[in-house]
Amino acid sequence: MDARPDPGTSVAIIGGGPAGLMAAEAASNAGARVDVYDAMPSVGRKFLMAGKGGLNLTHSEPPESFLTRYGARRACLAPLLAGFGPEALRAWARGLGVDTFVGSSGRVFPAGMKAAPLLRAWLHRLRAAGVHFHMRHRWCGWEDEGALRFSTPQGERAVRADALVLALGGGSWARLGSTGAWVPLLVARGVRIAPLRPANCGFDVGWSEHFRARYAGHPVKPVALAHAGSDGSERRLQGEFMITATGVEGGLIYALSACLRDEIEAKGAAVLHLDLAPGRGLAQLERELSRGRGSSSMANHLRRRAGIAGVKAGLLRELLPAQDFADPMRLAAAIKALPLRLIAPRPLDEAISSAGGVAFEDLDERLMIRALPGVFCAGEMLDWEAPTGGYLLTACFASGRAAGAGAAAWLESAKPSAAAG
Ligand SMILES: Cc1cc2nc3c(=O)[nH]c(=O)nc-3n(C[C@H](O)[C@H](O)[C@H](O)COP(=O)(O)OP(=O)(O)OC[C@H]3O[C@@H](n4cnc5c(N)ncnc54)[C@H](O)[C@@H]3O)c2cc1C
Repeated sequence: MDARPDPGTSVAIIGGGPAGLMAAEAASNAGARVDVYDAMPSVGRKFLMAGKGGLNLTHSEPPESFLTRYGARRACLAPLLAGFGPEALRAWARGLGVDTFVGSSGRVFPAGMKAAPLLRAWLHRLRAAGVHFHMRHRWCGWEDEGALRFSTPQGERAVRADALVLALGGGSWARLGSTGAWVPLLVARGVRIAPLRPANCGFDVGWSEHFRARYAGHPVKPVALAHAGSDGSERRLQGEFMITATGVEGGLIYALSACLRDEIEAKGAAVLHLDLAPGRGLAQLERELSRGRGSSSMANHLRRRAGIAGVKAGLLRELLPAQDFADPMRLAAAIKALPLRLIAPRPLDEAISSAGGVAFEDLDERLMIRALPGVFCAGEMLDWEAPTGGYLLTACFASGRAAGAGAAAWLESAKPSAAAG
């Protein structure tokens, strides 16, 4: 007996990012007729943007540590990643003719680092499989009788589908399509949504005009950041970050951004400690800085004795009381643990990704919204967050896969009269 859904039944996928396209592939592979709708003139815009700085597809670390990156949502993501994890993702890319490699940090990239060749091959395969794409279709909710409402350049359009996968993304980089405008549409249907918040984001410090004018755009490296969590544990990371016009951003900051954001929400500010000389010990710095500087300027003294110059010296001047420069012990201590007070995360639109979204508690194991039979959700619009490192895309692909397969399976089991919405 053919276990595939009747090809007459259709799955609508709204959102053509990595999650939606993977849902389309899974539903199509299961034999469903699939239509992909997207508000933008073309699909995968954020995916292509992710490829600009080198597409970090996934990570090669062991599954146990990989899972810890999803923090409190680890248990929700685990079954999805068990179904389509990093290795499966790499095999999938290979199937599209794109080999991957493991970088020195353990991150996995496609050969060539770009997203475009992967997306091109993928769209070709999806079209060949019969998936239909409908661009410039902005989903605006449901008609009273359950049809999907789209706004198109030709006016409003109502579409019926037997199952629906929503893969509408989070709320950052709205110009690439993911505006978060879906939140009130699902709230109106009784779906619980954790507010969308910036994740992997920069922070405001409130620099002096002098510091901003001089150092905005300068990288600080090498540097180590230490942050004490609310549970008393300290995280210390080494690498680099960037001074911006309003504060700080970059990989090292993003890696700590979830706890920094939460601390600012709880206390109004968060304090990081910068180690500006990670290669030198405190005692060594104390010794070196205690040597008389004679007629040499403080800038020269710092450079010669502590290797501190440029933006690092600027940070000391910006953040340390002037009198502490006269005390070698205090100066050395500040170089090893300079407090930097962060006062606000940058707005959601600037963030790499969003925290918050559709509550897993309102979804079944196939990612169907319990209150809306036949409606599935996938990708960044679900309530999870993860640091950069390939964890974002991996979870988007995995959840897209699960939702697409779930929608096709649901068509199999649903009564013929069931309609999405
Ligand atoms: C600069 C940058 C670099 C990144 N680099 C990486 C990286 O290297 N590795 C990594 O793992 N992650 C990276 N990410 C994150 C990653 O790109 C996202 O997590 C991922 O694209 C989310 O996939 P998604 O399918 O859930 O949503 P999206 O990719 O945001 O796609 C959502 C789609 O839904 C459409 N849509 C939204 N609302 C509607 C509507 N009402 N009607 C119709 N269509 C709608 C949008 O147009 C869009 O096409 C990066 C993000 C940014 C911004």
